[in-house]
Amino acid sequence: MLNILNFKKDELKNFLVENNFKSFKAKQIIDWIYDKKVFKFEEMTNLSKSEREEFGKILEVSLPIIVKVQESRDGTIKFLLELFDGNLIECVFMMYDYGNTICISTQVGCRMGCKFCASTVNGFLRNLELGELMAQILVVEKYTNKKINRIVLMGTGEPLYNYENIVTFIREMKDKLGMSSRHITLSTCGIVPKIYDLAEENLSLNLAISLHAVTDEKRKTIMPIANAYSIDELIDACIYYFDKTGRRISFEYLLIDGLNDRDEDINGLISLCERAKAHVNLIPVNEIKENDFKQSRKINKFHNNLLKNGINATMRQKKGVDIDAACGQLRLSYSK
Ligand code: SAH
Repeated sequence: MLNILNFKKDELKNFLVENNFKSFKAKQIIDWIYDKKVFKFEEMTNLSKSEREEFGKILEVSLPIIVKVQESRDGTIKFLLELFDGNLIECVFMMYDYGNTICISTQVGCRMGCKFCASTVNGFLRNLELGELMAQILVVEKYTNKKINRIVLMGTGEPLYNYENIVTFIREMKDKLGMSSRHITLSTCGIVPKIYDLAEENLSLNLAISLHAVTDEKRKTIMPIANAYSIDELIDACIYYFDKTGRRISFEYLLIDGLNDRDEDINGLISLCERAKAHVNLIPVNEIKENDFKQSRKINKFHNNLLKNGINATMRQKKGVDIDAACGQLRLSYSK
């Protein structure tokens, strides 16, 4: 049985033609799955009875099982999903003024080893397939009965280390759900060569960089990737991305008490933002029991200082504080 969610739209057309069906059947099937959220061929009533039977013999819509759902008072919903091979991933549904947003995982586990992050604690297992990326959207839209307007690739995993599937996923969101890449944000810890590659993809994708420190020395103490690429190289890649795509970069900056919240850090951040013409999203670190990082009390000071210096800075709205909504926390608490 083949998982239809792993097919690109064109591949599905070709597959149907090779199996002696009309290529326009692809559009009908895609409408059922992605628009109406009907996942069984026998319920696709504009297909003939024999087509429904034939498709059901060779294709399936393989969806993860919802293992656990945590609903927050603010409407945030966190899903723990079990994949076909028993691995667990999580994704989060959030409601903002500007629309419904989903934060999806891109890998099972993560190998980046960032010291503050729960997703990386048990290491990396595998990349998610195209169908598993698509399925997170389908499961959440079906469960909530709400349309998703924005996608953030900020869940577990490093999206630029699952490059091919992620770029295909972004293109397929347009082809199958009509969602422009303008409404998608990819967050990376800064895989410099892949940022250059991404700039050539002709997408209007928003790029967010997990910066978190303004000197290489300090960044290396919390993010091992800083040993591979310097902040200078990273900023050059950001400038290239902005020049090529016209899309402004945003820097994610976690504020950790005593570590990256001093005056010299503010000044360093201002100058990096000026160089890369970047926005900043300040994030209070989510305290997890795997480490001792504590939230900084200087977030407002940081914010005001950035604004005063003409930097476009926002503070991340806290969502789902009454559930384990930080990266990887639910999966981690379940796998122990
Ligand atoms: N690998 C990618 C995407 C996954 S992490 C990246 O590094 O960007 C998504 C975001 O969550 C990153 O900005 C990451 O630094 C942040 N994050 C990780 N652990 C966190 C924590 N304990 N509190 C707040 N944000 C965290």
